[in-house]
Amino acid sequence: MKKIEEYVRSIPDFPEPGIIFRDITSVLNDAEGLQLAIDSMDDLLKGVDFDVVVGTESRGFIFGVPIAYKEKKPFVPVRKKGKLPLETISQDYDLEYGSATIEMHKDSIKPGQKVVIVDDLIATGGTVEACIKMIERLGGEVVKVIFLMELKGLKGRERLKGYDVASVISYE
Ligand code: 5GP
Repeated sequence: MKKIEEYVRSIPDFPEPGIIFRDITSVLNDAEGLQLAIDSMDDLLKGVDFDVVVGTESRGFIFGVPIAYKEKKPFVPVRKKGKLPLETISQDYDLEYGSATIEMHKDSIKPGQKVVIVDDLIATGGTVEACIKMIERLGGEVVKVIFLMELKGLKGRERLKGYDVASVISYE
């Protein structure tokens, strides 16, 4: 059986010169790769007591929803600015390439809820740090943050110090 590493394609100089982009479309486009990715991420949640999964647009949706489904928990989307129809809270953050604003519905997390955040990859940790800020502003407690991939050199874990962070595979 192939390992997750073998399904991920590494694309040099995308989206900018000097960046190696880790492409997950090749993981998704293989039935065994997809199952392995979801099951491996779900394994990171063994023994974790939580109420809701939060995922970030857009690859956090791809992995977050099947994990929520497997765990029989609800899913809350974090979206790019201007996409959600009801009252939102928003958070600005710096990306590996540029900056952005993300939003959540104000009523999506209830005070005291235990939250798991799911995304495909952690680079600088800025995206997830912005999610954590919003979740905590809504009164939620982030009990675990899981990724398929981690780019160790960008030190995202240091940015998320104090939180329980786990990933399936990591790149130096
Ligand atoms: P961070 O906020 O940790 O710096 O960047 C992580 C975010 O950018 C994630 O939402 C992730 O989807 C996206 N991202 C950055 N670099 C890559 C990459 O090489 N591959 C993939 N699949 N996503 C990336």
